[in-house]
Amino acid sequence: MENHTPGSGTSPTSAELDAADPLAAQRAAFYSPDEGELAAYLDGNSLGRPLKATASNLASFVQDAWGSRLIRGWDEQWMDEPTVVGDRIGEVTLGAAAGQVTVGDSTSVMLYKLIRAAVDAQPGRDEIVVDRDNFPTDRFIIEGIAAEKGASIVWVSANPASGVRTGDLEGLVGERTAVVVLSHVAYRSGFLADARAITAMVKDAGALMLWDLCHSVGSVPLELDEWGVDLAVGCTYKYLNGGPGSPAFAYVNASQQGRLRQPIWGWMGADNPFGMTESYKPATGIRSFITGTPPVLAMQPLKDMVELIASVGMEAVREKSIRLTEHAISLADELLVPLGVEIASPRDPAERGSHITVDHPLFGQVTTVLWERGVIPDFRPPHGLRIGLSPLSTGYGELELGMTAIRDALAELL
Ligand SMILES: *Cc1c(COP(=O)(O)O)cnc(C)c1O
Repeated sequence: MENHTPGSGTSPTSAELDAADPLAAQRAAFYSPDEGELAAYLDGNSLGRPLKATASNLASFVQDAWGSRLIRGWDEQWMDEPTVVGDRIGEVTLGAAAGQVTVGDSTSVMLYKLIRAAVDAQPGRDEIVVDRDNFPTDRFIIEGIAAEKGASIVWVSANPASGVRTGDLEGLVGERTAVVVLSHVAYRSGFLADARAITAMVKDAGALMLWDLCHSVGSVPLELDEWGVDLAVGCTYKYLNGGPGSPAFAYVNASQQGRLRQPIWGWMGADNPFGMTESYKPATGIRSFITGTPPVLAMQPLKDMVELIASVGMEAVREKSIRLTEHAISLADELLVPLGVEIASPRDPAERGSHITVDHPLFGQVTTVLWERGVIPDFRPPHGLRIGLSPLSTGYGELELGMTAIRDALAELL
C-alpha cells in the first residue's frame, strides 16, 4: 500500500486527469486562501467558492451603481433585476425560455409560495406528495402548508442510498394529488431523479410537479420547458456561487402563471407598485411571484458564476462532474471501503449529481479532524460524510488529497 499511488490501477491517476482536464484553467478564476490554510475544498455543493471577479464587481457595484446612481438605480435597472437575472439563469442553466424565472427570497420561502399556490389552484385535490428523505426545510414547509390548508401529506419511501423513481410513486399519485415535490438531486445520496419521466407521470394524473433544484442547478443540465415542468425552486449559493444567503430563484411555467396566485401579497408583486393603491392586484406574469423589495445587492455575485458557466457550457460542466464523481468512487473503493466505509450514493453516473456520500459511524469525529487540517467535506447525521465536487473549482489532485486525508483521519480513530 505504501508505494501505491491511489487510482493507479485500471483507472487514470489524479495527475493524468488534471492534465487532461479541459476546464482546468477555470480553477484559477476562483478566490483561493493561502496555501496550507485550505488543502481540499469538498463542500462546493453547500457553499460555492467566490470568483475573484466577484470582489471587484461588488466593489464597482457599490461605487458606480449604488454610490453614484442612488435611488435612481431602481428605475434605471434594479426593478427589473429579479427577472433579468432570472432569465439569464433560465437560459444558461435551466432550459427555460424568458419570462418564467424570478430571483428573490430564500429557497424555503419560495417553496412556501409555490407549493401553497399549487394547492390553492387545485380545488378538490387535498394531497401533497413528498419523499421522506427530502431536505428538512422542504418537508417542514409542506407540514406547515398541510396544517394551514387541512391537506394531507402522502409520504414516499424510496431507497435512501438512491432516491425516488417512477415506481415509488405508483399508487401514491392520483386524483387527490395537488402537487408532487421532489429534489432533482437528493441532498444526501446525490441521486439524480429522472425528472422527465416523473414529471410526465405526475401531469398524467392531473397534478402539478415542483422540482427542488438546489443540488442540481449549475451542475446537471436541465430542460424544464422541454420536460413540461410546472414549478421549480433552487438555491444560488451552492453551484451558482452566489455567496452566503444569496437569494433563491423560482421557475413558474408560463402555462401556469395566470392560474397560480402566490400567498404573500406585497407591493413589489403588485400590478402598479408605486401607484400606492388601496388594494392588491397582482402583476401579470412572473412578477406576481415577487413579494417585497428584491435583494439586488445579494444577487450580484451569482451573475459572475452564471456567466462563467455560459462561457464553457453546461455539457462541459456535466462531463467534468461525472469524471470527478467517478474518480471519487474509485478512490473511495480503494482507500475507504477496506476500512469499513460504505458508499451511499449511486454507482451509475447517469443516476448521480455532483456529490457522493460515504457512510461510517466515526465520520462525525472524522469531519472535525479534517476541518482542522484544511480538508473540508461536510457531515450529515447519522454518519454520512458528503464529498461535494463543484466542477469548475475542484481539481482531481485536490480530491485525492482530500480522500487520502479522510482515510488517514479514520485510520487514526479506528
Ligand atoms: C440547500 C437546500 C435548501 C436550503 O433552503 P434555504 O431556504 O436556502 O435555507 C432547501 N432545499 C434543498 C433540497 C437544499 O439542498
